Amino acid sequence: MTKYLFVTGGVLSSLGKGIAAASIGALLKARGHSVTFVKLDPYINLDPGTMNPYQHGEVFVTDDGTESDLDLGHYERYTGLSMSKRNNYTAGRVYNNVIQKERRGDYLGATVQVVPHITDEIKCCIQSAGTDPKVDVVIVEIGGTVGDIESLPFLEAIRQIPLDIGRQHVFYIHLTLVPFIQAADELKTKPTQHSVNKMREIGIQPDMLLCRTDRPIAQALKRKIALFCNVSPEAVITAQDVKNVYEVPLLFHKEGLDTIVAKHLRLKGVPKLSAWKQVVRRLSTPVGHVKIAIVGKYVGMKDAYKSLYESLVHGGLSVRHSVQVVWIDSEQVTRDNVTAQFSGCQGLLVAGGFGNRGIEGKIHAITYARERRLPFFGTCLGLQCAVIEFSRYVAGLPEADSTEFTPQTKDPVIDLLPDQHTVVQKGATMRLGAYPCKVIRGTHAYAAYRQDKIMERHRHRYEFNNRYRDAITKAGLTISGVSPDDKLVEIIELSDHPWFLAVQFHPEFKSQPTYPHPLFSAFVGAAVRQAPVSP
Ligand code: GLN
Repeated sequence: MTKYLFVTGGVLSSLGKGIAAASIGALLKARGHSVTFVKLDPYINLDPGTMNPYQHGEVFVTDDGTESDLDLGHYERYTGLSMSKRNNYTAGRVYNNVIQKERRGDYLGATVQVVPHITDEIKCCIQSAGTDPKVDVVIVEIGGTVGDIESLPFLEAIRQIPLDIGRQHVFYIHLTLVPFIQAADELKTKPTQHSVNKMREIGIQPDMLLCRTDRPIAQALKRKIALFCNVSPEAVITAQDVKNVYEVPLLFHKEGLDTIVAKHLRLKGVPKLSAWKQVVRRLSTPVGHVKIAIVGKYVGMKDAYKSLYESLVHGGLSVRHSVQVVWIDSEQVTRDNVTAQFSGCQGLLVAGGFGNRGIEGKIHAITYARERRLPFFGTCLGLQCAVIEFSRYVAGLPEADSTEFTPQTKDPVIDLLPDQHTVVQKGATMRLGAYPCKVIRGTHAYAAYRQDKIMERHRHRYEFNNRYRDAITKAGLTISGVSPDDKLVEIIELSDHPWFLAVQFHPEFKSQPTYPHPLFSAFVGAAVRQAPVSP
């Protein structure tokens, strides 16, 4: 019998519901259970692919090419599972399914309503993740905060699930905030009480509370929360702020979370946490520090580069260094200030992105890395900028550009794929998901992967223009990865540079703390060997 564990959030957003859900998954997996996840997002977009990263953070791409919520990235990083379109539903997708069914005539005669039609559809989405007989527990995270108008149908749907399958197969976890109020010199429980009351109004009694706080919660306070919120005192879990997000599974375990969940859901198994302990040990005992610049246009928006940032941390783990990321606004980088901008850095990464804002700054940064032999890593748009930079300043094509930025450019070294010319709709029409790539032996790329064939995830429309392959490679750029039919350039590098490599795909979507991605390990390793830029 598949069990369902629901994670809801109260009081305010950004309390780390995604990391909490991922950590619970990691613990259940460490106890020998097979888990999967469903993220339910209450907005109307069919997927987050068309949203601005300022609003929504990074768009995480799965192997099957789904543009999904960044929480799926946490799920993959904490459990090593591969997510797909079955693991993320938005209100828009749910309504779309229902409207299509209505048009098909599936509800002939009925008035189609939120309850039961939308709620039934939500239950279908949730339960389709549990149809795999190998899955012991489906962890369902509801986006948003209890009290939002948008989340109501989702909460109503999860309220009904125990009626369908039995209360003993369902566990509700509610994440709340227990703030410390300076003036009173006290931790306050009222927001938690109100938030749980909201849940109970809807008909859901949480089985466990995860109390986000900046300090330990004393037993007496736990008992108070338990009494007012109608949960047992041991199910009041202190979710104290941590230095590093990978400490959360062990923190929850210390608080007894997995033991309580396992008891309620009648799951047998003993936790094997050595891999997590090793990650945390390595994180807390680095042999050194390395400073790496991320050059991008969503500065100050860590969520927009979530997987990239985490991948750098993982790369650091494999060379026992802690990575300090310096965020550089590409719009502020000029030819004159570039040295000052990168002062103290030992490597620079140019991230993916869309549109021409900040492109010239990225190109100046790449020139600097190429000429000063600073380790450089480009992902997706980062590769496209590196090709433009090399074409302009080395291959003698001063007007080289991408048709994304300058449609009429004389030398479109980056251009649309032929099949993209006819695309009109913007949603889910890029080259998306995992594609194979052949890695050429004797290159930096091969030294990192040590494999001839790899699979990496893509999210882009534009490509290296094959018309320029000869001119650019003759000028000295090495193509070190191509599609199996040799039609698409996937990896480029400079052979005579300590580490200058860029990829058309997004390796950051496949890195995990327990399995750092080889390119991030190699890049951070090269940065560790590099002396910092002096101003
Ligand atoms: N804008 C570029 C393209 O569409 C790069 C996309 C990206 O960096 N993800 O090809």
